[in-house]
Amino acid sequence: MSKFAEVIIDIAYNKLDRPFTYRVPERMQQVLQPGSLVMVPFGTHNGIRKGYVIALKDTCDLPPEKIKEIAELPVSDSGYSEDEDGATAIGLAAWMKNRYGSTMAAALKTVLTSRKPGKPVRTREIELKLPREEALAQLDVYTRKHQVARERLLWELLEVPRLPYSLVVSKLHVTAQTIRAMAAAGVIDVTEEESFRNPVTFKKAEAAHRELSGAQKAIVDGVLADFDAGRSTVSLIHGITGSGKTEVYISIIRGICARGRKAIMLIPEIALTYQTLLRFYQYFGEKVSVMNSSLSESEKADQWERARRGEIDVIIGPRSALFTPFSDLGVIVIDEEHEGSYKNESMPKYHTREVAQELARRKNACVVLGSATPSLDTYYKAEHGEYRLYKLTERLTGGTLPDVEIADLRQELRNGNRSILSEQLQSLLEDRLARKEQAILFLNRRGIAGFVSCRSCGTVIKCPHCEVSLSLHKNGRLVCHYCGYERPGVRECPECGSPYISGFRAGTEQIEEHLKMRFPGARVLRLDADTTSKKGSYDRILSAFANREADFLVGTQMIVKGHDFPGVTLVGILLADLSLYAGDYRAAERTFQLLTQAAGRAGRGDTPGRVVIQTYQPENYAVQYAAAQDYEGFYREEMRYRSLLMYPPAAHMLCVQLQSMDEDKAEGLAGQLRELFVRDDPNSLVIGPAQASLSRIRDQYRYVLYIKDENYDKLVRCKDRAEAFLAYLVKIGRDPQVQVQFDFDPVSPF
Ligand code: ADP
Ligand code: ZN
Ligand code: ZN
Repeated sequence: MSKFAEVIIDIAYNKLDRPFTYRVPERMQQVLQPGSLVMVPFGTHNGIRKGYVIALKDTCDLPPEKIKEIAELPVSDSGYSEDEDGATAIGLAAWMKNRYGSTMAAALKTVLTSRKPGKPVRTREIELKLPREEALAQLDVYTRKHQVARERLLWELLEVPRLPYSLVVSKLHVTAQTIRAMAAAGVIDVTEEESFRNPVTFKKAEAAHRELSGAQKAIVDGVLADFDAGRSTVSLIHGITGSGKTEVYISIIRGICARGRKAIMLIPEIALTYQTLLRFYQYFGEKVSVMNSSLSESEKADQWERARRGEIDVIIGPRSALFTPFSDLGVIVIDEEHEGSYKNESMPKYHTREVAQELARRKNACVVLGSATPSLDTYYKAEHGEYRLYKLTERLTGGTLPDVEIADLRQELRNGNRSILSEQLQSLLEDRLARKEQAILFLNRRGIAGFVSCRSCGTVIKCPHCEVSLSLHKNGRLVCHYCGYERPGVRECPECGSPYISGFRAGTEQIEEHLKMRFPGARVLRLDADTTSKKGSYDRILSAFANREADFLVGTQMIVKGHDFPGVTLVGILLADLSLYAGDYRAAERTFQLLTQAAGRAGRGDTPGRVVIQTYQPENYAVQYAAAQDYEGFYREEMRYRSLLMYPPAAHMLCVQLQSMDEDKAEGLAGQLRELFVRDDPNSLVIGPAQASLSRIRDQYRYVLYIKDENYDKLVRCKDRAEAFLAYLVKIGRDPQVQVQFDFDPVSPF
């Protein structure tokens, strides 16, 4: 029955990022809650703006004539099911604002889920229409005609007679056109109903019950014991692909649901396979809901509405599913926890792992992380006892790990081979063609930073202060994107004197052309940002490859994740050096993860796969440990480097990011902030300012400034100090006209 509401206006303007008081009209007094969305008059012209209620109160010190009234509620049914949930969400937003540096409005926007009233959802399913005998006969026909996509779908329908349409299209890579043709032929039925319910109406099947292995059971028991004891712990499951992690997640989630609580299962969308989704449907039936990017806003709102009402037990989705409004959350699982997509790259620049931990703490829930190649941050915490560490070491799928070999491109050059394909890789490709098997060629390019390396000896030109590779700029100079160190370009290698020193320019397109030239009979597909810019083209290319319409697939990192192509028996990594020298401190870690995962793509079927890693630096530890599939070895060596240079997780690092149309203003403010930090603490480790790795985007000049410290809170204070300084400049009428953002323990270069 509160009469006044504190409202944060949804506006991207730091100066207005504080609560404003509004009067609550009588008709809203019953429904308004912390977390409610409201429309309010704002500013001198009383334009109507969206706002978030963060608190309600009965009294107010302001003179009554100064208080405006809330205009309306944007929706009929709003608010969390419990007051307390709204308060938790607001508390979490405040925590994020403080920890990551952001406006309260942006943090609230992230945390408070959209709650438009749901329009009815159209639920589409695919059903097998033929009796089993006839279906088997039809399967034979498809096989004979090499209609691979039809064969695949029918095969799956014989296993599970009713499948969600979206699952078939997105994960089985069967196109809408094929589905229509099969329906027209009377093999399948596509049903569609309007309902306000789960887009997935998969009937809960009696899933094959699997006896957990001893190691799996120990993890499930351990996590549930923590949960029962009321300890909000974080557990890491370190286990290679196929070691049974997903089975463990499912068992833990079942345990939590049996205790009347709910589960959030986060997984990078691209890594979510057909089999995994099917297993969840089989265990949880209508109680599981899947969020993906193809859901419309109102479909998402429907999912959230169902969660709020307690109709679902498990939600599976990407980063944003973390904010599903479950009032009795019990566990958050983060699969492939090392994935870069768990870092939000817009304000607030949060790490999903950290927010999950904080949310779990507030809800008295548990967090479970899983990966074959855990991020260094996570493994470091596990080693230091902050997280529990569990290991799964055996592959339950059978199938041997692929043979990994390293091709030394320096040797190739000495032998007179200047092409992008080593002799080794060429002969293996020839061999696949002859045996009608498939190959994936992978260019681990990270867009921007062009490093300079020697093709004779592999030497890379690095910053003498930061131990990261220097980037080649258009003016020919070499620049460090941490500290700003610069030097002229080089004509010959400082180590061996070779003239073959240069940036690397080949892209996927050139490689595609080269392949077509070298193997005139081969069918080549390319998957990269260019070929997938049109909607649906990504799925189309992958389904064509899955249908064996091509022999070779060339692509960027998009192709490494989660795809299971049984026909692939060879994976080539064209140049490991590309991601190794991306010019930031996480480059080796990312390379190790990419190489290990790419290797995991080969030979998932019965034939053992082959992997070739091409590089100018075969002795590099990330390459060596990836080839040996030795995570621990890599971790130790990489931590030595991080400790020496105080990079996370050995210490923490704050990146202050400055952008302005006026280059001098951006650089000038960066310098002022540097002085400010050094004046506060002469011992502080301030690095830069330097030009950002993307030094100019849409006419905005970009600068960075880094501070390192072992103590995270000290960096938060630096951020607070910078914010206060900016506010002060504005107040005295000297607005620097520079946009400033903060990124703690950055994951990718700015
Ligand atoms: P990960 O998530 O680590 O890749 P999964 O949980 O998907 O591993 O398991 C890999 C394969 O092993 C799956 O086919 C799964 O069905 C099977 N599997 C998992 N646990 C068991 C078990 N306890 N007994 C038999 N098969 C299992
Ligand atoms: Zn050299
Ligand atoms: Zn440097």
